[in-house]
Amino acid sequence: MMNVSGLSEENKTAIEDYLFNVHVYRQLNGLILRNASTLHPITDVHLMLQQLVSQKDTFSLPLLKQICQSEKLPIVGAKSADALLPIVLQYSQKLQRLCVTGTGVFAIHNCMNHSCEPNVVTMCSRTDRSVRVVALKDIHKDDEICISYIDDAMDVRNRRKALYSKYLFFCKCPRCIRESASK
Ligand SMILES: [Zn+2]
Repeated sequence: MMNVSGLSEENKTAIEDYLFNVHVYRQLNGLILRNASTLHPITDVHLMLQQLVSQKDTFSLPLLKQICQSEKLPIVGAKSADALLPIVLQYSQKLQRLCVTGTGVFAIHNCMNHSCEPNVVTMCSRTDRSVRVVALKDIHKDDEICISYIDDAMDVRNRRKALYSKYLFFCKCPRCIRESASK
């Protein structure tokens, strides 16, 4: 007897037995935890907060007011930048916590190996949740395309430590070899 999905009950049970068990769940979970890319939705408020942070000590009153008004933050009586800043910063922390981030496994992007001097960087689209791979330098035929899995501004010791603890490998990229040899 066939069901609506076109599978016999026997095949359906076999597929369910294969998919819905702890072993497959662990593999799937491992695949996502190790390989998924985090997607950060960026809103206009994020962009304004970024702009605010980049201004460091010279906070702009119009920008603070703009954020407060667009997000309907309680600013009764607070008219100066000094008074508005704590409200916006508190809101910013809340926004970070509430911000819905997603993860995705992208077939090509997630196959890329790591280098501490990557030749590409990946960027999440703001609108359609796709991932773009953007070249950081000239890429020649047969060059391997590599991304950086970590903050590559760290020194060689800390980069290797971070990569080993999270991705279980000891980095031997050209930069790590160069920098470890010069120590
Ligand atoms: Zn390296």
